[in-house]
Amino acid sequence: MKPHDAMFIDGGWRPAAGAEAIEVRNPADGQVIATVPAGTAQDVDDAVRAARAALPGWSATPPAERAARLAALRDRMAARIGEIAETVTAELGAPLTFSTRVHAGSPVAVAGSYAELAASYAFEEKLGTSTVLLEPVGVVGAITPWNYPLHQIVAKVAPALAAGCTVVLKPAENTPLVAQLFAECVAAAGIPAGVFNLVTGLGPVAGQALAEHDGVDLVSFTGSTAVGKKIGAIAGAAIKRVALELGGKSANVILPGADLARAVKTNVANVMANSGQTCSAWTRMLVHADRYDEAVARAAEAIAAYVPGDPTDETTRLGPLVSAAQRDRVRGYIERGVAEGARLVAGGPEAPEGREQGYYVRPTLFADVTPDMTIAQEEIFGPVLSVLRYEDEDDAVRIANGTVYGLAGGVWAADEETAVAFARRLETGQVDINGGKFNLLAPFGGYKQSGVGRELGPHGLAEYLQTKSLQF
Ligand code: NAP
Ligand code: MG
Repeated sequence: MKPHDAMFIDGGWRPAAGAEAIEVRNPADGQVIATVPAGTAQDVDDAVRAARAALPGWSATPPAERAARLAALRDRMAARIGEIAETVTAELGAPLTFSTRVHAGSPVAVAGSYAELAASYAFEEKLGTSTVLLEPVGVVGAITPWNYPLHQIVAKVAPALAAGCTVVLKPAENTPLVAQLFAECVAAAGIPAGVFNLVTGLGPVAGQALAEHDGVDLVSFTGSTAVGKKIGAIAGAAIKRVALELGGKSANVILPGADLARAVKTNVANVMANSGQTCSAWTRMLVHADRYDEAVARAAEAIAAYVPGDPTDETTRLGPLVSAAQRDRVRGYIERGVAEGARLVAGGPEAPEGREQGYYVRPTLFADVTPDMTIAQEEIFGPVLSVLRYEDEDDAVRIANGTVYGLAGGVWAADEETAVAFARRLETGQVDINGGKFNLLAPFGGYKQSGVGRELGPHGLAEYLQTKSLQF
């Protein structure tokens, strides 16, 4: 795909209002690979007007027809899966095998799930003497991050379109190319002009203008807690609907009697995937004191298999981080962990050998981490795993719940019943039981400061609906 020097507004590519541009860099070597226009408030206004104008037509389109357009979108994306993977690898740095399976595969599946849901969802319900109509909220302003760039776009756009909403998207400045590719797929899928619009740009400029725009009825944001607080305040002041998918510091709790080898290996893979840039990553591994040393030794062995490498090489399992800023931030946290007295078992703040050019960080394992340490409290967003010790179940619950976050988690036990009983005590939005797999129909979202609202599946669709009741 060639980058567009334009915005996708009202069904076509139009020149940006201003002349500013964003440079897109390849994280593996820091070289500029493309530029895209940096949108202004004027571009956002044009896009919101287009979305408002398209709203009456799209919201009145029968759900079966919206479903057909979403199925066509899924098919357009599926036909370009290799190109999607290469684009994400080029601008994010994720290993190509991971880009193909997850960054490209998951959005295709999610788009497909909403093609099915649009056709089958009950947009009307009976309640006593009332008929309740579930109607689209209106124009959606979607602001997305770079870590799962296409997944996070589709997790907002597909349910919004299924619900009958229209959308203006402001993707992350680091990963605008896959967003442009997505806009090409939208156009090719025969989705009417103005239903989906793309404004590339900087967060504090285009993102903020979108969140503040009077013509936006719902702001859906995924990203940092710091920006999420601002978006929430803007939306609250204007009485707009808001969905916030923020950070996490998820705990993986290995209970006595669990399959320790499998639990530890799975935990290491979970944190190393996408170079640790996953909001739901199990960055805290909690192990009973009796098996603590064994768990640390197993984790050290597992982490050795993650050698930072060229993301376009099919054997690479760990690529660079997205940007120099992110690399420096993560290295800062590693230094902080050492300074606060955690035991560095593997990795460290230095550049990995032979990888001084790109935005690489050494896969890092900390032991003897206590719950009060910064690395046990704050989201690092890098390939860094902390192992914490607990004395009994109550202690494990206290530690697991002892952060401001609550997005995901894992529980491993000898049997499902024990694991589920423990999972009920966790203040978090998702828990994988004994290595349960990611389910794209399961509601995804946070307790506490991990966010407001849910994405994916029918719960994700409900976010984009408002209710009207008719009494008979
Ligand atoms: P971020 O600044 O919160 O970025 C998320 C999105 O919000 C981007 O599109 C960004 O634009 C936009 N944005 C930034 N400031 C804005 C504003 N004032 N108004 C409206 N939109 C705004 O996140 P980041 O800087 O990329 O990453 C920082 C940290 O956030 C990471 O280290 C990680 O801990 C966390 N994070 C979490 C998630 C998650 O999935 N929960 C995802 C990404 C990051 P720009 O691209 O121009 O900044
Ligand atoms: Mg930012």
